[in-house]
Amino acid sequence: MRFQIRKCSECGRYTLKDECKKCNKKTMLVHPAKFSPDDKYARLRIAEKPN
Ligand SMILES: [Zn+2]
Repeated sequence: MRFQIRKCSECGRYTLKDECKKCNKKTMLVHPAKFSPDDKYARLRIAEKPN
């Protein structure tokens, strides 16, 4: 069983529902970080290869 944590952009409340009960606003999925800062630097290093 997997939960998709969502967050209301209005009140900042975390919920599992599509809409915030308090504000009646659509909530947004809280995206887990897909790559760490280390990966970002690794990509930069790849982009910076010497000519
Ligand atoms: Zn809300």
